[in-house]
Amino acid sequence: MFENLSPPPADSLMEVGRLFRADNREAKIDLGVGTYRNGEGRIEVMAAVKESERRLLETQTGKGYVGPGGDALFCDLLANTLFPELGALAERQMALVQTPGGTGAYRLGLELAALRFPSARLIVGTPTWPNHIPTAERVGLRCVTYRHYDPASGVVDFGALLAAVADARPGDLFLLHGCCHNPTGAVLSPQQWGALAAALLAARVVPIIDLAYAGMASGMTADAQATRQLIEVLPEAIIAISCSKSFGLYSERTGMLAVRATSTASADACRQTAESLARTLWSNPPDHGAAIVRTILSDADLSSAWRAELHAMRKRLAGVRALLAGSGYPGADRIAAQEGLFAMLTLSPMAIEAMREHHAIYMDPSGRINIAGLNDHNIDRFLAAVRTVSV
Ligand code: PMP
Repeated sequence: MFENLSPPPADSLMEVGRLFRADNREAKIDLGVGTYRNGEGRIEVMAAVKESERRLLETQTGKGYVGPGGDALFCDLLANTLFPELGALAERQMALVQTPGGTGAYRLGLELAALRFPSARLIVGTPTWPNHIPTAERVGLRCVTYRHYDPASGVVDFGALLAAVADARPGDLFLLHGCCHNPTGAVLSPQQWGALAAALLAARVVPIIDLAYAGMASGMTADAQATRQLIEVLPEAIIAISCSKSFGLYSERTGMLAVRATSTASADACRQTAESLARTLWSNPPDHGAAIVRTILSDADLSSAWRAELHAMRKRLAGVRALLAGSGYPGADRIAAQEGLFAMLTLSPMAIEAMREHHAIYMDPSGRINIAGLNDHNIDRFLAAVRTVSV
């Protein structure tokens, strides 16, 4: 069976990680994979998470299955944090299902859509997260791409975005990053989100919103504003939520699928169908990460401690962003207007290779950097290296 199996090409970002680990130069800098690092370059466990784990250790009496839909209280608390006062949520016109990370949520949302409408296509703006297209193709959806980002100006190509909506067929899915676009960091204005919502409604196209970075730009609730704007206008939407970044729970695989449906009955049907699909994918989601989030969000003191930590993370990222934007590197000023963990440098492939070979600085071959990999100890060296390879 496997004799002639040829493995797929290595994911470029995984390859960057492999090269980074194999490099034994002491001052190496990792700007590859999208995890938040503190000012000392480490991924740390948030204090609110540690306290929540301590409480769980004391109170947990068993480790039974949580059921295919996961922890309902976790789902409600997370949904209310992201979408407070949303009519569709209050009226139970949303199906909520706990998933293994944002990846699980995205996969489950696509499975649900493909089950109902196998001929739907997924319209995807490029560049995007490397998992978006392959996951859709795995569930049998055809992908259509358009240019989302204009590298020359460093902003969203909004004309191309609207043209892609106009070209879509009713029932197609349209992928959107709810905030903190990966890899570009480029943002839409509230007016543009409004125009996009109206265009999607007119075209009868269903958005699938990837909300993997809520909390990393302006705040957990604030970063879901665009998603709320879409759900208020559109009768149906699929939302893939990750707690990996906002709670620093990367390894705990914590996420949620939310489906906005036209009625309570339809939301219920979506939930039951998603649960039966989840049963064939992972049976039950892992409990620990969701239990941590539930413990934090159901306790006012822990919640405010977590929000304060998230705020400090954002403040650090904003500081790094400001230093990059003011660095004088060609096109750097646009980085100030972007948000989240990422920025695209306009370096040639040769320059990116020179950064790695001569300066031990690792980034995606596309020029995407995770700005959280920069800190007071390494940013000057990074900027000097960029200047050297750019000439
Ligand atoms: N969407 C995007 C845009 C991402 O960058 C990521 C994580 N890198 C995910 C989804 C998946 O997140 P998780 O680790 O929670 O599966």
